[in-house]
Amino acid sequence: MNTASNQSNSETALDAEVILVGYGPTAVAAANFLGAYGIKTIAFERYKDIYARARAVTVNDWTMRCFQSVGLDADLLKDMDPTNTLLWKTYSGKELMRINLNKSTLGQPASSMIYQPVMEQTLRTGVEHHACVDVQFGKQVTHVSQDAHCASVEVADVETGVTTTVRARYVLACDGGSSGVRTQLDIPLIGSTINTLWVVIDARVKKWWPERHILKFWSDKQRPVVDIPLSLGNHRWEFPLSDKESEKDFETKEQLWKMLSTMGITPEHVEIHQHAFYRHHVRRAARWREGRVFLLGDAAHMMPPWAGQGMQSGIRDSFNLCWKLREVIKGRLPESVLDTYESERAPNVAMITDVSEELGRVIKMTMTGPEKIKAMVGGLLSKLKLPIPPSPLDKPPTIGKGWITGALSGKSAVGQMIAQPRVSTPAGHRCRLDDLLGHDFVMLGDEVDPASLLSVQERKAWDSLGTRYIAVRSAVGSARGDTDIMDMEGTLLNWLRQRQTKAVVVRPDRFVAAAYGTGLSVPK
Ligand SMILES: Cc1cc2nc3c(=O)[nH]c(=O)nc-3n(C[C@H](O)[C@H](O)[C@H](O)COP(=O)(O)OP(=O)(O)OC[C@H]3O[C@@H](n4cnc5c(N)ncnc54)[C@H](O)[C@@H]3O)c2cc1C
Repeated sequence: MNTASNQSNSETALDAEVILVGYGPTAVAAANFLGAYGIKTIAFERYKDIYARARAVTVNDWTMRCFQSVGLDADLLKDMDPTNTLLWKTYSGKELMRINLNKSTLGQPASSMIYQPVMEQTLRTGVEHHACVDVQFGKQVTHVSQDAHCASVEVADVETGVTTTVRARYVLACDGGSSGVRTQLDIPLIGSTINTLWVVIDARVKKWWPERHILKFWSDKQRPVVDIPLSLGNHRWEFPLSDKESEKDFETKEQLWKMLSTMGITPEHVEIHQHAFYRHHVRRAARWREGRVFLLGDAAHMMPPWAGQGMQSGIRDSFNLCWKLREVIKGRLPESVLDTYESERAPNVAMITDVSEELGRVIKMTMTGPEKIKAMVGGLLSKLKLPIPPSPLDKPPTIGKGWITGALSGKSAVGQMIAQPRVSTPAGHRCRLDDLLGHDFVMLGDEVDPASLLSVQERKAWDSLGTRYIAVRSAVGSARGDTDIMDMEGTLLNWLRQRQTKAVVVRPDRFVAAAYGTGLSVPK
């Protein structure tokens, strides 16, 4: 690293390929992905320890699939609890509505309750296995600059104040909602902050109470409450304050116990260990890329927590961008592919933000009866074109405009995340699909060698990206080659046939880049 900052960037060797600013959930996910790809990375985090306040409460199948790609899903799941049900009920105990979450097609639990500090620790431990990633704590990034050759950050040691300049090809600003990088780049933050103040009470469970394990929304004429069974014996309640109330009304434990007692919770059941006040934001950065610098996670977008998707969206940002960076750094794809990070992620974040806002409106309503709440939730689902009873979060992820070939249509496989069933190698080793796909581009064919469907030029282009070609065979048939995949329950072949295609090219993030029938050329 260079201690002088007045040298021209172009004259100086790079310290890394990628710099991560911050080391919250978005950055630690990126560090795992880049580490697994062998990309030299340095992360700077101003704090020495993990942020102790648990904020995120849940993760879904898509996020767990991201972590599966770096072999961390089993370790993470050990500390999570499955969530199968969302329940709306009144203070008097009357059930208003129940949504049972569908089994996921993505090969991971549909939804799990987490305890964020423990989850982050597991992700940090995962990074320690990657020698190419250097994480530096107690280091604050104070300035970012760039030229045609590289990006530079100035980093101050929080204790000594000593500054250094560090250079890399790309900087990922994962520095949270009040991102200093975003401010310094003068990127406007569009949107608003919702005026309602919420008090969030975190507690440790001492003694079980009825239905403690069910995620509940207390929806009544009294104050609505979100009642959340976090994993590892932790529990959370979130209460909105009325216009007449302020933080002063909830300063003491006595005031908090009064709130909890409305749901029958007493010091016999839990020990309160912290409480905090939040106002929720609906905001996004006007652009997510400025040359060599990218905004990810809360630095790029903030949403209310009601769909439990804020942190997850940051993790998915990282998964989307990191394989693209890998391809550009290796010289296999042009720089322009990096523009598809925003064009692919921003619409998904916008959709999920809408769902979150709408759920917030449902939660905050003082309900007069089941009909009203059913109408609200039903309206939300129909807006998303989903049948009742699946939850809005069951919708399989799809990308629109981005690094894909061919026009999107309802039936087309292009832009969709491929299902993840149980499969087997021809030698009888059973596993999940992704465990065979690895980090590569993979072309899958329905009972056919997919390479045989490519023109000479298409084959050359996919070969240059290291694509593997795999025939998917029915488990009731025979294998023909050593690399075939046996489809144990017919799920994968059905998935292809429902989308009227004989072959698809799957990207490292499991989205379909191209399909037979709508064009198999490498996306531009
Ligand atoms: C009450 C509440 C409930 C929530 N529930 C959920 C949920 O259920 N599910 C969900 O997915 N999300 C949830 N969220 C949202 C989630 O917590 C955030 O979206 C997530 O923490 C964002 O992660 P991040 O890594 O982008 O940013 P952050 O978590 O803010 O991390 C940014 C990191 O960057 C560091 N940093 C900042 N500036 C610098 C600098 N200049 N130099 C070095 N380091 C720096 C910070 O110290 C910090 O560690 C909830 C949020 C709240 C408030």
